[in-house]
Amino acid sequence: MTALREHADLAAALHLLEWDQETFMPSAAVEARARQIGTLAALLHERQTTPGFLQLVDELAERVSELDPQQAVDACETKWRLDRKRRLDAALVRERSTIHAQARAIWVTARRDDDFAALAPWLGRIVEIERQVAATIDASRDAYDVLLEGYEPGASAGMIESLFGELRQALLPLVNRLRERLAARPLPAGALCGDFPLDAQRRFNQCIAAALGFDFSRGRLDEAVHPFTTGIGDDVRITTRYDARDLRCSLYSTLHETGHALYEQGLDREAWGTPRGASCSFGIHESQSRLWENQIGRSEAFWKHFLPNACEVFPGLVAASLDAVVLAANEARPSLIRTEADDITYNLHIILRFELERALLAGDVDVGALPQMWREKMRAYLGLSPDTDREGVLQDVHWASGAFGYFPTYALGNIYAAQLLRAARADIGSIDALVSAGEFHVLLQWLRRHVHRLGQTYRPAELIRVVTGEPPTPRPLFEYLEGRLAFIEST
Ligand code: ZN
Repeated sequence: MTALREHADLAAALHLLEWDQETFMPSAAVEARARQIGTLAALLHERQTTPGFLQLVDELAERVSELDPQQAVDACETKWRLDRKRRLDAALVRERSTIHAQARAIWVTARRDDDFAALAPWLGRIVEIERQVAATIDASRDAYDVLLEGYEPGASAGMIESLFGELRQALLPLVNRLRERLAARPLPAGALCGDFPLDAQRRFNQCIAAALGFDFSRGRLDEAVHPFTTGIGDDVRITTRYDARDLRCSLYSTLHETGHALYEQGLDREAWGTPRGASCSFGIHESQSRLWENQIGRSEAFWKHFLPNACEVFPGLVAASLDAVVLAANEARPSLIRTEADDITYNLHIILRFELERALLAGDVDVGALPQMWREKMRAYLGLSPDTDREGVLQDVHWASGAFGYFPTYALGNIYAAQLLRAARADIGSIDALVSAGEFHVLLQWLRRHVHRLGQTYRPAELIRVVTGEPPTPRPLFEYLEGRLAFIEST
């Protein structure tokens, strides 16, 4: 426990340096900061792999039946993560991170120049080395499964394939309906666009985060080009980005990151540093951000509560009706770029990436075939196809960073969020009534009790089953999205 806390403290110092690098660090400090981060990371790795610590974890894991349930969770989860780490020798780890760093730099220029051929050989090397990493961790299993588990413990490609297959079949007709609606007449969705002074936006976002339950005495809200959340114990920092012409940009970034932050602030403080005091998985983390951003933040109930307040801060909004604002918050159309996609089409962007990366890892597809396959799948799923690879296969940094198995966690987050909200509704009654009355704490307390406080007590799929009574299923998500589409069709 003491050792785990010490590791968590070192990791927290590392994360704080990284947070500073993305927010306030002066530009000339880049080199020194990279060195400081490298030194701390090496120190942390050293501490985590001292023979004494490894032996202690092994012994505890062997005597798991003698431990109380909480200690057993800590022993098993710590050993599982440590085993993945220690099977990799230092040379492989170094080679891997060097290739990732180089490929990320190549990706930046390849995307700028729309030059997939420049990145292709690097992607080939990355796929090779990721296969090697997976085989070193566990040669008896499918490489994709091993990599996926780094983000979503207990998940498998087979499980994702069946969830995503069902979701895809349900979403394709929705996308067709959306396209028909958009072809029939324009969507009057401009109510949240116009003149929104940045200072007023900053005040409004602070007020929204606080109303949802974000504790500013244990956190901050700042700005970053790519918004993110850093959780370091009693200090959780969120970032957002502002667009003076479109209130949705900062608001929905803030809601998303506030969701992540509420999870971090809801973790069991007594268990800091241990698996019980850490978030369950990337997918569960994403479920918390997407629940507040989409299901709550785009609802009519949310705007019923916040529109009067928004009108005080932004007098230009006074003329807008509630319906017009809710429609602006739910504007949807098939588009090429994942990070700009609405929640009706978003999951198809993820399903496409999962199918390609799985085929790539399995050796069923060559790197060179990716741009063409990307275009074909975009056409099949969303009815459009990018003219450039910059708007296609080159748009995300994930593959160039070696993050295979990461994409599915975004859609899992949406799936879990809808299941959790349905279970919360069954327990505490109408969420809409609570939200329109501004009673966000009731839902937050429910999430704290059923998700946040449990940390890694359960693996993600098991947590969903325990809390909702069902294994992961896309049906609640589909029903939620169909409701959104029906609202758009009614306008
Ligand atoms: Zn997120």
